[in-house]
Amino acid sequence: MTAKLIYGKEVAEKFLTDINKKIKESKEKPGLAIVLVGNNPASEIYVNFKEKKAKEVGLYFERHNLDENVKQDELLKLIDELNQNKKIHGMIVQLPLPKHIDEKLIVDSILPYKDADGFTPVNLGNLVNDDNRLLPATARACMELIKSTGVKIEGKNAVVVGRSTIVGKPVSLLLLQENATVTLCHSRTKDLKEHCKNADILVAAVGKPKLIKKDMVKEGAVVIDVGINRTPLGLCGDVDFDNVKEVAGFITPVPGGVGPMTIAMLLDNTLKAMEIGKGFLK
Ligand code: NAP
Repeated sequence: MTAKLIYGKEVAEKFLTDINKKIKESKEKPGLAIVLVGNNPASEIYVNFKEKKAKEVGLYFERHNLDENVKQDELLKLIDELNQNKKIHGMIVQLPLPKHIDEKLIVDSILPYKDADGFTPVNLGNLVNDDNRLLPATARACMELIKSTGVKIEGKNAVVVGRSTIVGKPVSLLLLQENATVTLCHSRTKDLKEHCKNADILVAAVGKPKLIKKDMVKEGAVVIDVGINRTPLGLCGDVDFDNVKEVAGFITPVPGGVGPMTIAMLLDNTLKAMEIGKGFLK
């Protein structure tokens, strides 16, 4: 069997076209602000992509670049200003932040209805409560890509490898909402291979190049590779793509899979944030 490719870029383009249409029809222009602290090369690449796509779809966009050594109070002040700014409906503080800054405090200071990343405790709590107001964008991206295959999720065995708060946990909760039977694996999981082999739907969000091998994947499974790993041989995912595609039913490539879809979901979250904000900003 050779897997069908899930082209995240193509699925994302459909969302971006729809977002563009909604913006053109909207009386108010949705606004997104991104705050980037320091010069982390990977973060700069991600922010550049987000900026490019935000401008392409017609969002009002602000980018705030702060020095690596910025004081925490200055960053908090900027977030407070963006919280009050009526032109800004969604905000992203690009993570990771430098070590001297309390990342949790910063995320907590974003108004939940302007939280385009869906990382604040309120939005994560909403998700636990099956309230999908503003979801973490990558988790949303995984779900949309699984749904794009047409494979029914209900009743399937779904295995998520990686339990981060921004990807693994939220994607597990979303799969559970869709009535999959979910196994969440992590670095202390015993016999990862046996768990993965049982998966009709396998999501890898680990950050370890090609961790998921062909003999760990069930024939015909839907495989979603969230990983972005920079190796001497170039960019690769957490899945050994060339070999796994021989057994999987569907598989996302890296790059061109989850990445572009995550950006589309971020921009869509900004539109959602504008609608949610209307209930607060009278
Ligand atoms: P993270 O916070 O570092 O979490 C990694 C998870 O993998 C942890 O739960 C860890 O377990 C688990 N893990 C590590 N080694 C393992 C092993 N050998 N077997 C099983 N589980 C293992 O990472 P993240 O932020 O979720 O990101 C994961 C990957 O996705 C990274 O490559 C990142 O760059 C990528 N990513 C991509 C996008 C996108 O848009 N495409 C977005 C976000 C992240 P413990 O909890 O036990 O430590």
